Amino acid sequence: MEIYYDGIEGDRFDITTAFSFEENGELINIKNFTGALFKTDKIYFLQGEMEFELNCACDRCAEPAVINVKHTFEVGIEPEADVKLTGAEYEMTDGDGDIYTTPPDYIDLSEILRQEAVLQLPLKRLCRQDCEGEETEEYAGYAGEANEKPNLALKSLSSLKQNFYRRNR
Ligand SMILES: [Zn+2]
Repeated sequence: MEIYYDGIEGDRFDITTAFSFEENGELINIKNFTGALFKTDKIYFLQGEMEFELNCACDRCAEPAVINVKHTFEVGIEPEADVKLTGAEYEMTDGDGDIYTTPPDYIDLSEILRQEAVLQLPLKRLCRQDCEGEETEEYAGYAGEANEKPNLALKSLSSLKQNFYRRNR
C-alpha cells in the first residue's frame, strides 16, 4: 500500500489494511492494521495497532506453530527532500528515534508495517506454552551443546525418577 503525500488531505488520514508476506521463509500474516497518519509542521506521525500471526516451527518440538502478536506503535515519517534514487532503488531507512525516511513523494506503508512486524517477532517460538519439548528445571541441569537436540529418552527417564520419588515421599 502506497500513500502519496499529495493525496493526504487535512491533518488526519485514516488507514485500514491487511496483507501477508514472507520473512526468512516464514509466513507473516498482518490480519489487520488500523491507524492514522497525522500531519504536523515538520513531519508526519503514523499511529496504529496491528495484529499479525507468525507461522513458524516450534523451537521445542519442531511442529508447526502459529503465534499471534498485537503491536501498538507510533513512528515518525519524513519525506526525504533531495533523494536522487527513485522507485525500487530507494531503500527506506529506519533511523534514530523511530523515524522512517521515505521517498519524497510517497509513503510505502506496507514496507513500514513489514518492518514494524519483523521487529516484534518473538524470540521464543513455542506451539504452546506447555509444549512437551519445553525445558524443565531438572532438565536444565543437562548442559549439552547449544545446538544439540534435547535427549528425549533421558528426559523421560528423569521424569520417571521424579514421579517415583514423589510417590514414595
Ligand atoms: Zn512445540
